[in-house]
Amino acid sequence: MSDRYGDFVQSSIGKKVAKNLGLPMPVDLDRFDSGQPLVRGSVLVGRANGDDNAVSASVARILAELHAEVFVNSRDDVKDALSAAGVKAKANTGGDDKFKVLLFDASNISNADELKQMYEFFHTVARRVEKSGRVIVIGRPPEALTDIEEALAQRALEGFVKSVGKEFKRGITAQLIYVEEGAEQNLDSTLRFFTSARSAYVSGQVVRVSKGDSVDVDWTQPLGGKTMLVTGASRGIGEAIARVLAREGAHVICLDVPQQQADLQKVASEISGSALTVDITSEEAGAEIAEAAKKRGGLDSIVHNAGVTRDKTLANMDEQKWDMVININLGSIAKLNRYLLDNDVLKDNARIVCVSSISGIAGNLGQTNYATSKAGVIGLVNATAKHLEDNAKGMTINAVAPGFIETQMTEAIPFAIREAGRRMNSMSQGGLPVDVAETIAWFASPASGGLNGNTVRVCGQSLLGA
Ligand code: NAD
Repeated sequence: MSDRYGDFVQSSIGKKVAKNLGLPMPVDLDRFDSGQPLVRGSVLVGRANGDDNAVSASVARILAELHAEVFVNSRDDVKDALSAAGVKAKANTGGDDKFKVLLFDASNISNADELKQMYEFFHTVARRVEKSGRVIVIGRPPEALTDIEEALAQRALEGFVKSVGKEFKRGITAQLIYVEEGAEQNLDSTLRFFTSARSAYVSGQVVRVSKGDSVDVDWTQPLGGKTMLVTGASRGIGEAIARVLAREGAHVICLDVPQQQADLQKVASEISGSALTVDITSEEAGAEIAEAAKKRGGLDSIVHNAGVTRDKTLANMDEQKWDMVININLGSIAKLNRYLLDNDVLKDNARIVCVSSISGIAGNLGQTNYATSKAGVIGLVNATAKHLEDNAKGMTINAVAPGFIETQMTEAIPFAIREAGRRMNSMSQGGLPVDVAETIAWFASPASGGLNGNTVRVCGQSLLGA
């Protein structure tokens, strides 16, 4: 899709004009390429003072596996964790070194005064983060803390991280990971996602990592041997999801309505997957999915991506537009999940991933039907997550909430509204379908057993609903 303004500000004259007029200056975001290292630069690691070393030990182990070049501030005691993991860290001497990733273990911060350590670690390096850099803070879920001082300090991290996401610009993202005590071993898939170019358009997010079972994976093909079904896979975001899941090793069953058969077949054959034409709102949808899945020994993941918009202000909206959107975007997902769970179509450790929208978080003019359906998806995810936890089969459910993604859907929006949607986020640009797909692949990974009940926005930290 064309972004003429974005192209213009990449030119030397465009840069000058945008700078002088204080206009948004989108940069070309790093995106993942197979064969490239996950972390494309050096990592500065720090740790708040305190006794608990569990987070740092896990971080150090992961950095060792990533073969990242690691720096520490000279007075940092994170060095012990790094050397125990065999990482030879260099000293950050305050010189010209630039960092691709700033990673701070804030899990020991236990009162308002100790928040100063956030300032101390980040202040001196705030100007030394590379384009498309990553800022990652790890804390403890405040809701699990009974001590008021500790809870307020951990909750405070959210304001810090979200502000950094808005300040640093140049495609730099900022995230907060709350890891439950005892779940530090489950950080792998999340740290790999957030340190890499896979999370190009995800910023200002708060993710909770819990103790669920994660399965060891071959990181070069984390979805190898898995069968995954994607609804609405003939085009747009669904097509990108199917391609990324296949790239990561999965056999993908691509599903779409019969009218999309030709496009669907093309996508399926290009990724050596299979095609299934069925309307997800039809009575037989569950049984048809079950039959296709059975041929491959069951489903390791289902991605509920299919969705429609039928925009009208409430006063002008006919009943059919309301019914259709609620039925496709929400009702069918609830019905299909029930069917697949009741009939053992989903295997142990299966991953259910739903596609919501920032409209479901912020609301949107002309979208009472759509926003209701997409908010309902978040409700469904939260309630199902508890249910899956009780089921004890290692299954998880999570959602992505895309913001402005460059697709046929957004290309059809009138110019002025489209430009506003594109620029009103920390990246000053729209995301690509692949950005949503990479986020879904992270949730769909067998290694993501610690992620259950999260809704992560893929919106470049959109101002809407922030
Ligand atoms: P799209 O219209 O390009 O693709 C949607 C696909 O779903 C189509 O292939 C369509 O045939 C299929 N589909 C619709 N109804 C179906 C049914 N009853 N049964 C089976 N398949 C059906 O849309 P997109 O932009 O790729 O959006 C994909 C998802 O992302 C949707 O859930 C959408 O609400 C959500 N989303 C998109 C954006 C964006 O900016 N494009 C933003 C937020 C959320």
